[in-house]
Amino acid sequence: MSQAHTNCIFCKIAGGEIPAKKHFEDENLFAIEDIKPAAPTHLLFIPKVHIESLLEIKDQKIMSQIFSAIQKVAKEKGLEAGFRTVINTGVEGGQTVFHLHVHVMGGKRMSHSMT
Ligand code: AMP
Ligand code: ZN
Repeated sequence: MSQAHTNCIFCKIAGGEIPAKKHFEDENLFAIEDIKPAAPTHLLFIPKVHIESLLEIKDQKIMSQIFSAIQKVAKEKGLEAGFRTVINTGVEGGQTVFHLHVHVMGGKRMSHSMT
């Protein structure tokens, strides 16, 4: 298992150093509320191990674990009508926290714009 990165906010949340509203947790990942929600429901699904971005994933198994947690939580939250998943990668992809995470946004009709 990789080490927690000292200055990584999501490693600190994973380690309980910084509080967050958790909506899911298992041995591999957790889901928290985004601090600046872009939709009525805006969760971040985050692996417990520090992976900088999608480009740095070594074992793709974590992605199926994340997507299966998303399925479960989306149904629990009543998002069957739909929701948006987003992964920002790198500076040009708009990533601001450099610990892999998948955004899940729903609870309203999302705009079609992707920019
Ligand atoms: P990204 O821009 O894709 O890297 O997304 C990072 C997201 O993390 C942003 O939507 C932030 O609002 C969110 N965020 C940053 N710090 C925290 C925090 N302490 N707790 C919850 N969400 C956070
Ligand atoms: Zn981290």
